[in-house]
Amino acid sequence: MTRGNPCQLPGMLPNYDPNDSEAGMKILEDLTENVEQIQQRVLEEIVTRNARTDYLKGFLDGQFDKQVFKKTVPVVNYEDIKPYIERIANGDSSNIISAEPIIELLTSSGTSGGQPKMMPSTAEDLHRKTFFYNLLVPVMNKYVDGLDEGKAMYLLFVKPETKTPSGLMARPVLTSYYKSNNFKNRPFNRFNVYTSPDETILCSDSKQSMYCQLLCGLVQRQEVLRVGAVFASAFLRAIKFLEHNWKELCSNIRTGHVSDWITDPGCRKVVSLVLNKTKPELADLIEHECNSKSWEGIIKKLWPRTKYIEVIVTGSMAQYVSTLEYYSGGLPLVSTMYASSECYFGINFKPLSKPWDVSYTLIPNMAYFEFLPVKKKNEDGAQYVQCNGVCKENCMEKETEKEDVETVELVDVKLGQYYELVVTTFTGLYRYRVGDILMVTGFHNKAPQFRFVHRRNVVLSIDTDKTSEEDLLKAVTKAKVIVESLGILLIEYTSYADTSSIPGHYVLFWEITSKGNNHLPVLDPKIMEQCCSTVEESLDSVYRRCRRKDNSIGPLEIRVVQHGTFDALMDFCVSQGSSVNQYKTPRCIKSGEAINILDSRVVARFFSQKAPFWEPV
Ligand code: AMP
Repeated sequence: MTRGNPCQLPGMLPNYDPNDSEAGMKILEDLTENVEQIQQRVLEEIVTRNARTDYLKGFLDGQFDKQVFKKTVPVVNYEDIKPYIERIANGDSSNIISAEPIIELLTSSGTSGGQPKMMPSTAEDLHRKTFFYNLLVPVMNKYVDGLDEGKAMYLLFVKPETKTPSGLMARPVLTSYYKSNNFKNRPFNRFNVYTSPDETILCSDSKQSMYCQLLCGLVQRQEVLRVGAVFASAFLRAIKFLEHNWKELCSNIRTGHVSDWITDPGCRKVVSLVLNKTKPELADLIEHECNSKSWEGIIKKLWPRTKYIEVIVTGSMAQYVSTLEYYSGGLPLVSTMYASSECYFGINFKPLSKPWDVSYTLIPNMAYFEFLPVKKKNEDGAQYVQCNGVCKENCMEKETEKEDVETVELVDVKLGQYYELVVTTFTGLYRYRVGDILMVTGFHNKAPQFRFVHRRNVVLSIDTDKTSEEDLLKAVTKAKVIVESLGILLIEYTSYADTSSIPGHYVLFWEITSKGNNHLPVLDPKIMEQCCSTVEESLDSVYRRCRRKDNSIGPLEIRVVQHGTFDALMDFCVSQGSSVNQYKTPRCIKSGEAINILDSRVVARFFSQKAPFWEPV
């Protein structure tokens, strides 16, 4: 790997000391000033390196030519590249798509055929991620002083992993990173000192990991300057866990002994060292705060020196902002970065901005970025489908056939326009549609900044699950068969993600009737609970993992509504501007008013009584 000035050498990762904020800012300035040249060189390097792979050979004649690349290499979805990924998973050489050996497959929260998509990863890519993480340090230092005078209580977790038939590791991107030497043997950096010992982060038992990380965070409460987790949902889960376990945690702090059920040897050893000796005053103090009737502002009370909460609160995580604000006592919520299993994309250069104003600057040496324009509603006469993401935008996705799509380059995106992100990575993805819709909000030097608008085709999301309208329809159709066999018709349905309690859960509103008349049938709770379970069993593997293994999603609920409820919903939507002629029942509701209309007509509620089946694939 070449190192040096990023503007002189393509696709390289400058080596710098994250303790040196000035050097970090200089790198960021160079990267954002020279976007066009860097993007050109990134693409040249990727194509030159990989021109002889089976994949690119099929489109190029071994030479790098950007125009030829853009003309002949197709813009693809996962389904198009899945056969290549599966061949690699089954033992074919990774050079069918990548000249660099693929050392593992990263299981995404996006699914294909119900199973996580798998993204290729190389050894070099770990260094690219480390470089990216290091760039976050100077940005935070620019806005918050004194971050080297204490610790970060970041609650980080690993997830289950499996091996492919060829013996490649398949695991989520963060699990891969935390288990890598880049994380475990990271050089000391005074801005990134964590309260959680690595052993507690790397513990595969998520309950023991959570308990031990909270215990270490509480013991070191006076040193903590920031708290967080990757996603808002995970951080709130930790607060709930604390709510259930603070007495035991305090008892451990009081006695200086960790509970017997912490059996992971690594955890026991490091937590005992942190606990060190009996601390009755500290236990009393924490008990006093946790015992108070209201947990409003609990974060600030338990960790009084905390300057901000670092959690992603953009995209589907925006639904947690008000709950986080309640617990935080007014601390800023900081979304530092935008990344995925495919590639790490962008950094929030104004980390203290409000969640709704957060924009990410795409870092031009991470990948070659292209953009598919997405039209806004009524922008022309073309056929559009409504975005169904967890966004408040009035944007529409054009139903485009992939052949007739023209992409725009990073330097050519226009302020205020919506685009779908397409990436060509160093790891074997070429012109790959990520599925995220972004809007251009401004520029940092010559680098455009984007607001994350929503993910294409996602209607429901609680944690890292991403359920599409189609997934939901399939699952509801399976459950519908059960009631139909009993002479009950499902006339209409819709859904929403209920995050009023932690963990949140999916709610389905069902309007049902007896066959042959318009009466509400007598409902057998057992049958309705079975319907809830059937829907859950039919949802994809990420949903089932969150629900069964991570406990980050609660039992699915069906709320049966009285006859005529969906007419009232239609009246409401029409009153809000929907056309009567083109009205289609929304399969997911986000508006509080619409939810109230449905909720006020609920006649019965049923919950799934068992967690769905899940195992790593
Ligand atoms: P995964 O492939 O499972 O790592 O999920 C990556 C996806 O999570 C991205 O493509 C986005 O849809 C979403 N995501 C990641 N970071 C952010 C962020 N900062 N804001 C909103 N959504 C995000």
